[in-house]
Amino acid sequence: MYDIRSMDRTEISELMQSLGEPRFRADQLWRWTADGARSFGEMTNLPAPLREKLSACCRLTPPEVLAKQVSRDGTVKLLWGLYDGASVESVVMRYRHGSTVCISTQVGCRMGCAFCASTRGGRVRDLTPGEILDEVQCSERESGEKISNIVLMGIGEPLDNFENVIKFLRLVGAEEGAGIGMRHISLSTCGPEGGIERLAELDLQLTLSVSLHAPDDETRSRLMPVNRTGGGVKELIRRCSEYRKKTGRRVSYEYLLADGVNDSDAQAEALASLLAGSDGHVNLIPLNHVDGSMLEPSPPERVARFKSILERRGVNVTVRRKMGADIDAACGQLRRRRSAEERTEG
Ligand code: SAH
Repeated sequence: MYDIRSMDRTEISELMQSLGEPRFRADQLWRWTADGARSFGEMTNLPAPLREKLSACCRLTPPEVLAKQVSRDGTVKLLWGLYDGASVESVVMRYRHGSTVCISTQVGCRMGCAFCASTRGGRVRDLTPGEILDEVQCSERESGEKISNIVLMGIGEPLDNFENVIKFLRLVGAEEGAGIGMRHISLSTCGPEGGIERLAELDLQLTLSVSLHAPDDETRSRLMPVNRTGGGVKELIRRCSEYRKKTGRRVSYEYLLADGVNDSDAQAEALASLLAGSDGHVNLIPLNHVDGSMLEPSPPERVARFKSILERRGVNVTVRRKMGADIDAACGQLRRRRSAEERTEG
């Protein structure tokens, strides 16, 4: 079976050629698939026998909505059921300058970060490029919001599903489809070995966001096992400055604040020293509490103080606005809750 939503224009042309179809038919089919067609039946400008042939050799299975939560601030959280029974989440956030969708790249995650709900059950499988694209186009459809920006910050580690994510990035830019360009996309990574380097080679104009979360190896390794194989914090910053040099794009650092773990004055000073000389931007994220975790969010005064220390040291810093606080908007929570319910029901 061909996974038709994962195919680009060239691959669609080759498929149609192998079916003995003329070129204009390939163009018609591509326009349908790029635009997010949900079945071959709706491709009414293709002859019925061709549509049948295509359904026999291609999979076109848009995800179904398993759960939908709408927050008072307009944030919409969607739990998608995939063709094989797996599920992932997307979140649509409404901002003044347009809507952003936060999408997943894997079913589960194998990075093992201590604070994260998505990694609890490990990694089930990678999402295909078409499934990631479905998240964008189906979220737009379900939320009724025109989506102009994408953040790859949902379930999964994008650089652990490298090829599929890169193909998705190219598909989502297609003008016959979503038409969202690299400058409107952010990719968030915990920095697995070799990933940032591979991405730098491609020289894409997307925004790289790196989950740093601690200024020293002891703390970071405790929170994020990937730190032990990625070469440590200093090496991570060096890899990011290489990325900056190669692509000309500023790197952004995510730093979640957990009470008594990584939020002291000394750690703020250490973070400022670590980033001295880089023009990276720091985004402070108040921790979202996850059931069963010992980690608690830092109190607002701590967040403010941590921020002011960084500012005094000349670091470019912002605090992430909390969206969807009244729903399960922290990633992985909805999927986790759902599978816990299924376990108790079963
Ligand atoms: N695997 C990628 C992208 C997915 S996580 C990465 O590590 O960056 C997206 C962001 O959410 C990361 O910065 C991650 O560290 C953060 N995050 C995960 N769990 C969180 C929680 N409970 N509270 C706050 N931020 C969290």
